[in-house]
Amino acid sequence: MNRHRKTDLPGPKARALIARDAEVVSPSYPREGPLAMSHGRGCEVWDLDGNRFLDFAAGIAVCSTGHAHPEVVAAIKDAADRFLHISSDWWHEGMVRLAERLAAVAPFREPAMSFFCQSGTEAVEAALKLARYATGRPRFLGFLGSFHGRTMGSLAFTSSKATQVKGFFPAMPGVTHVPYPNPLRPLFAGNDQGRAVLDYIENQLFEGPVPPSEVAAILVEPIQGEGGYLVPPNGFLAGLRALCDRHGILLIFDEVQSGVGRTGRMFACEHWNVEPDLMTLAKGLGSGLPIGALVARRSIMERWPSGAHGNTYGGNPIACAAAIATLDLVERELQANAAEVGGYLFAKLTELARKHEQIAEVRGRGLMIGMEVVADRATLQPDPDLVDTVIERAFHNGLLLLSCGKSTIRFMPPLVVTRAEVDEAIEILAASFEEALAGVNASPAVTA
Ligand code: PLP
Repeated sequence: MNRHRKTDLPGPKARALIARDAEVVSPSYPREGPLAMSHGRGCEVWDLDGNRFLDFAAGIAVCSTGHAHPEVVAAIKDAADRFLHISSDWWHEGMVRLAERLAAVAPFREPAMSFFCQSGTEAVEAALKLARYATGRPRFLGFLGSFHGRTMGSLAFTSSKATQVKGFFPAMPGVTHVPYPNPLRPLFAGNDQGRAVLDYIENQLFEGPVPPSEVAAILVEPIQGEGGYLVPPNGFLAGLRALCDRHGILLIFDEVQSGVGRTGRMFACEHWNVEPDLMTLAKGLGSGLPIGALVARRSIMERWPSGAHGNTYGGNPIACAAAIATLDLVERELQANAAEVGGYLFAKLTELARKHEQIAEVRGRGLMIGMEVVADRATLQPDPDLVDTVIERAFHNGLLLLSCGKSTIRFMPPLVVTRAEVDEAIEILAASFEEALAGVNASPAVTA
């Protein structure tokens, strides 16, 4: 049903590129489908063979302002015309201005300071190092199903998929995992899974194997991303805040995926009015340019002295220019668009869920929405094969999607997405769902 398809998928040019890639690029990348991109505008992407796709994955929630937003491209060109790099050994306007902008929007009552890097995992590493440095404590709590990155510190927390962890033990020691509250799939007795997790930490862990006086920080995604787009029950983040305050533990919110307007607020934690002590950002912050940031309450960040942590590329002038232009757009219009069009998308997905026994739940905030797919609603048995087939059919029909968790399709289009584009995406999704249920043949293998 792809009205914009010019060739079979993958087309000859895509196949040729994918074959060359297989010879020289690491096979460790978790590839989703045989898209070989040529160019993009807004929510649209074209492949090398001229096929057009609607992009509801946004480069894993990165292209917040859409592909090649003219204001972001102009800011990048302007910065590139002046200089490409100076390093954090010296000063430049863009880095200071970006830190000022982040301080103005940071969800802290106290003034904020920023540390810059290139990626989400580095922002998390910086948060872990600062938490250890500032508290003098060695341990951390993290959450089952979380994703915080793939370097040895963040990997010690990451637990959304076994393949990300298997073969790399030991990562950083001292991390204890706790269940992330999930009312659809409760691990504890009772109706309030958030309360139950908090009680488990307080009564089981803190009175047993994890003395709270040794815990530097709790690292948590305010909406769990790779683990399944799980929205925590009301009161959970506030409960974590209270628990941290009782024990002198720092609270780190990883907003790498949920931050910078994606959920219809600048940061997801604002939905519950809960303040972290440290916050990590990346992905949508640079609209596609590699930039990460650790934003911290000033009284914590000013504790580490010159030389305690740094890097070569942090605060790169081009990445900073892209981030400032992104924040301008998000503040001016995209945050509101994410809330408005996100609500529309949520309603449309909920309508689709009413038609299909295999859609157990639609959940999320703004343009961070997950649709959990199961064998049937009675058993809630995850059905990852159905998820893969729907995503594959959607690709063939001209819609880019990604999965998350065990059995969830996620929707994270650029924040510029319109209602008309949502209508088109829903039409393709509905048809793809029908095709998948009818057992339409899967696409040819990526490298065939
Ligand atoms: N934290 C969260 C919540 C993420 O979703 C991700 C990436 O998906 C990361 C950290 C790691 O970011 P990066 O891939 O830029 O290292």
